[in-house]
Amino acid sequence: MTEPTFDAIFDDLIDANAELQSFLAILDALLPEASMLLVSESGAVLDGARPLVVALPVREKLVREAKATDGFITGKADSGTRCHAISLAKFSAVLIISCTASPEDDWEPGSAIASLLRNTLELALYRQEREMLVADHEQSVRQISILQQQHGKLIEDNYRQYRLNQDREKEYARKLESEIAKQTAELREANVRLEEISRLKSDFLANMSHELRTPMNAIIGFSELLSETPLAGEQLEYARTITQSAKSLLTLINDILDLAKIEAGKLELEHLPFDLAEVIDNVVAMFKIPAREKGVVVASTIDNRIPKRIMGDCNRLRQILINLAGNAMKFTEQGGVDLEVAYERSAAGRIVSRFSVRDSGIGIPADRVEAIFEKFTQADGSTTRKYGGTGLGLAICLQLVELMGGHLVVASEEGKGSTFSFVIPLEEAPAEIISLQERKDACREKTVGGGKILLVEDNAVNQRLASILISREGYEVEVASDGTEALEHLRHQAFDLVLMDVQMPNMDGMEATRRIRAIEADPALRQDYVGLRALKQPLEIVGLTAHARKEDETACYAAGMNGFLTKPIIKAKLTMILGEKMPRIPSPKDNEPS
Ligand code: ADP
Repeated sequence: MTEPTFDAIFDDLIDANAELQSFLAILDALLPEASMLLVSESGAVLDGARPLVVALPVREKLVREAKATDGFITGKADSGTRCHAISLAKFSAVLIISCTASPEDDWEPGSAIASLLRNTLELALYRQEREMLVADHEQSVRQISILQQQHGKLIEDNYRQYRLNQDREKEYARKLESEIAKQTAELREANVRLEEISRLKSDFLANMSHELRTPMNAIIGFSELLSETPLAGEQLEYARTITQSAKSLLTLINDILDLAKIEAGKLELEHLPFDLAEVIDNVVAMFKIPAREKGVVVASTIDNRIPKRIMGDCNRLRQILINLAGNAMKFTEQGGVDLEVAYERSAAGRIVSRFSVRDSGIGIPADRVEAIFEKFTQADGSTTRKYGGTGLGLAICLQLVELMGGHLVVASEEGKGSTFSFVIPLEEAPAEIISLQERKDACREKTVGGGKILLVEDNAVNQRLASILISREGYEVEVASDGTEALEHLRHQAFDLVLMDVQMPNMDGMEATRRIRAIEADPALRQDYVGLRALKQPLEIVGLTAHARKEDETACYAAGMNGFLTKPIIKAKLTMILGEKMPRIPSPKDNEPS
């Protein structure tokens, strides 16, 4: 058996003592006249409310017997009165009690007093336990209430925060909505203003285009004509310089107008069949002479998987390639310039092809590669001085390539050369469409000149220039200064074709054309017009205007014209349209039996 530690005994004693105190208090209340003595199991006196004096040997004997029997043991107090001992095993103590007032048999085991004592003792224990439980319970209730309070506070806090957030969100959404509404209104207003400005800009550009091209028409046309007259060497040089400068100026004007048109979203690409190889050959041919002079080789290759005839805007494609090849030539002093059309893949019935213009020229510094695509920007400040140019070419190419569904990029190394390339989808032209070029060629082969043209033009300089060009093509020409005069001419004479300027005083070209078509449609009226009554087909009327926009062309056709030429009149274009539209006088070859 292990010895209990001193601390454990001491703790037990303290606890037991506290219980004993309450037990004695109860007993005291039950048996007020009783004397008591509480002794330890060794017989030592622990307590006594109304002390009973019992000698130690008696105490020891009583303790021993009480412990052994667990009943009331009777002994004698020092006073000679009877006393009884009861073991309180739970407290490791023995209670010695003497109550002279109570009868003898009260103290027998099972007697009322004995039961009372035991019950009281148990009661004391129960009470103590209950108190402990109550204390525990109170503690728990207190803790629960604290937790509840904390919990409630947290819930309340959260809810308050939630409401606050909701209010804030609502307020924010309200502010946002009103801000959006305000900005939308402002944007709408700005948009209306921008549309108006854009319309004004387009109109301004259209007018400028007319005002700029008309005098350019005269300068280029007459300086070319001048160069063809007998001139002294120096005079010829001056005349050619005028032509060259005017052409550069016209290129610049066209570039600026092109860019303005693209930026206004007004540039529409054509969708017509053309021969790709022919376009590439054209471009290469343009640079053959300057290349030879510089000692640079110009070459081209087209992958044979790419269809010969494709649909698209051949003029704009040529413009891009001329620009890129022109730059390549300009910035290359030795080596070569290569134009390549490579097959990439086919997708959705189209041939995705890569167009590249490669040179072995000066290259572009890496930090300027992006900038050169911006308007009026060159690789460095010395470029204009050394090479000329305006910095518009690439900006236009970039936009045109994007309109064609591609993206223009450059790979370049300073001192080694550059490659500008773009990938675009090409659509093969359907077999049944005969190209404009073929029609033109067919016409040219069979036309041998002759016929009469009415030129309707208000500007005296242009009248003169166009008359000379028409006469040189071998046709007779009559001039009218406006629509009214043109109708008068038609009243008295027959013409094979009318070249009709659009912008004129009194009656403009559109109105004149509409009137001619109305007269043609009315047999009674037609009788008064020599120039219209004998015609089996509507009179050929070709519009002549410095407005080069698609909508101008459409307007001409809508007024009843069946052709369209832009000013300045390019000799080759005039030849082509006259060849196409003037009646074919059968050449002797046509009459030969086949
Ligand atoms: P421009 O040639 O009229 O100056 P571009 O927009 O066509 O205008 O070209 C812008 C600039 O890009 C050129 O001035 C030149 O500095 C640079 N650049 C274009 N192409 C080449 C090239 N092939 N090699 C070297 N530099 C080039």
